[in-house]
Amino acid sequence: MAKRANPPENMKDIHWHMDILHNIDVGLIVLNERYEIEMWNNFMQNHSGKPPESVLGANLFSVFPELSEEWFCHKAQTVFVLHNATFTTWEQRPYLFRFPHYRPITGTADYMYQNSTIFPLVNTKGEVDHICVIIYDVTDTAVNKIAQQHANKQLQNLSRTDHLTSLFNRGYWELRLIQEFKRYDRYESPSSLIMLDIDHFKKINDNYGHTVGDEAIRCVSRVIKEQVRDLDIAGRYGGEEFGIILTSTNGDGACVIAERLRSIIEKQTVYAEGHEIHFTISLGVAELNDHMHDHRQWIEKADHALYKSKESGRNRCTLSAD
Ligand code: GH3
Ligand code: MG
Ligand code: MG
Repeated sequence: MAKRANPPENMKDIHWHMDILHNIDVGLIVLNERYEIEMWNNFMQNHSGKPPESVLGANLFSVFPELSEEWFCHKAQTVFVLHNATFTTWEQRPYLFRFPHYRPITGTADYMYQNSTIFPLVNTKGEVDHICVIIYDVTDTAVNKIAQQHANKQLQNLSRTDHLTSLFNRGYWELRLIQEFKRYDRYESPSSLIMLDIDHFKKINDNYGHTVGDEAIRCVSRVIKEQVRDLDIAGRYGGEEFGIILTSTNGDGACVIAERLRSIIEKQTVYAEGHEIHFTISLGVAELNDHMHDHRQWIEKADHALYKSKESGRNRCTLSAD
């Protein structure tokens, strides 16, 4: 009776390699030139819920209709033709295969974020008739990075925004004013500034308390937000003083907007702490011109016009003469 031969050493090696490939913690798929699946490891099976017998020999795009055939083939063709590997990050495309992730609730991920590599498999004749796709689960990295970006954005907004009114705060608003001052070219388009201040605000605070005063400030900021265009830049300049930069607007145009703000605000009623109060604002308008040396002069002109409005009786708007 013939003695059964032990498997040759290199066959054992192949088995080991196959075992390792099947159990490694990345997804492995081997595709032929018709994009039929020839290898499907455990990672792919576990995350997709599709066993090898249901996918082997099947076309990749019929198994995963959500995968963009056009995008994938474009990538894969460069691998088949140029014999170069290609890499896609989760930032370019969050995933190739939509798999659920198994982490506790993250809040920012409903699926597994993936990086992927496609590389050529060269046959014994030196031709590339198969490609291998590797899928890396990068959900943890992606979720952390997204959370960090989100926090940075919030921080950035916070440092730009006045907490009482959610208009820009003075620091940021002045930066934008400097920017507009530098950008200005009188031949291109005009630019104007409105400064406005609540009349007899101390009396509101003194008679009704600070909370009611705060409500009056909020009321003004709400009207400003409703009335200005997206292009305009509105900020809280001081306690109850506001600045609005009106791009592409000359002095007369800015006065029309200022007058509209004045007339809307005198009709407002603020309800707070059981009180109903009415109040007015005074405004000053200055159009930017070549005689102004810096942005401070622009503010001074508008402030001076505002002072004139106060002096001549309040609840009115004055255009700076120069
Ligand atoms: P005028 O018509 O001349 O502007 O008179 P006014 O009483 O409004 O005078 P002024 O502008 O000097 O008053 C500003 C007051 O605003 C003084 C300050 O106590 C108050 N104030 C500043 N910031 C706030 C705030 O955030 N909330 C409240 N409620 N009051 C503030
Ligand atoms: Mg005031
Ligand atoms: Mg004031």
